[in-house]
Amino acid sequence: MAASAFVVADATASIIRTPLATPFRIATGQHDELANVFLRLRSTDGVCGYGEAAVATHITGETVEATLANLRAAAAALSGRRIETAEEVCREFAPAFAGNHAGLAALEMALLDLSARVQGVPFYRLFAPVAGKGESLCFETDITIVIGSLEEARAAAARFARRGFKAFKIKVGKDDQLDLQRVLAVREAAPDSELILDANMGFDVERMLAFLDRLDRRGVRPALLEQPVPKSDWAGLAAITAALAGSGTLVCADESVGSLADARRALDSGAVSAINVKSMKSGFLEGAEIARLASGHGVKLMLGAMMESALSITASAHFAAGLGCFDFLDIDTTFFIKGPLAHSPYLDDSGRFDLTGAGPGIGVEPQFG
Ligand SMILES: [Mg+2]
Repeated sequence: MAASAFVVADATASIIRTPLATPFRIATGQHDELANVFLRLRSTDGVCGYGEAAVATHITGETVEATLANLRAAAAALSGRRIETAEEVCREFAPAFAGNHAGLAALEMALLDLSARVQGVPFYRLFAPVAGKGESLCFETDITIVIGSLEEARAAAARFARRGFKAFKIKVGKDDQLDLQRVLAVREAAPDSELILDANMGFDVERMLAFLDRLDRRGVRPALLEQPVPKSDWAGLAAITAALAGSGTLVCADESVGSLADARRALDSGAVSAINVKSMKSGFLEGAEIARLASGHGVKLMLGAMMESALSITASAHFAAGLGCFDFLDIDTTFFIKGPLAHSPYLDDSGRFDLTGAGPGIGVEPQFG
């Protein structure tokens, strides 16, 4: 048997819930708890690999129930199976997860985690650097300021600035006047920080440009603007990108780009200057292909997350470390979670990841009840 081959002895999928420290509110909805579907694969040698599907029904339309059913079906099919190459098995199962990308991400995560553990290498070793880049084992995530009151934004920004966060991603798109005050409050609480705005599709072109103009007149120029308009409004994205060319503000597609085909469309049309990659939108393997394609086109890259626990967030940190191509890291959801699922061994309280001493696999083992 090849050194990386293994036989799956058993596979278990179940829902794990954990409370949030703060409700995670965006323009299109909110999470009040983490209720994700976890997958554990155990080899006949007793080695385990773990996966997580973070289901964001208000964003993707996927449901926890359907994801659990898909992962249970995959678990049944994998039990007793000999795996030579984990990547090949991921690709074999991908069609069964059409329309359930969070489920695919969990399956890939568990298969690749187990493969990395069997090989005795960190998860990031499974992702070779994109052309022209190298491994990047130390980096910092931004922190999200969720939709809320002016006081909440000010307090959260001050709290995280004190802890050492240097990049703040502010959710906007619900109330322009309040949003303007919230952005100014964050800038005041963290004056030297990098500001990112995420509109989650909450604007149209005219309103978005007017909003940015109001900020500009107060000396605030975000480094990046995520998804200002609805995901299918490619003309709107292109108009905003053209209007902001040379301004220092990148325009980033998030909801608009979930697949390699979407990324090709974004790149061919020149509609955006950055793309947000998430394992929960496209899985890890297609996500890596999106990153390689976009990087080759000179487009900037953000790595994002849904409401993911430390397992999935740490897997994404490995993904970023291996590929080495991400300009913006937005993998901060563990800071919104209570309990053991909030803890990543490679992430400190200031949002800094350090994978230099990473052991085999992802390095996080959730407890199955
Ligand atoms: Mg976003």
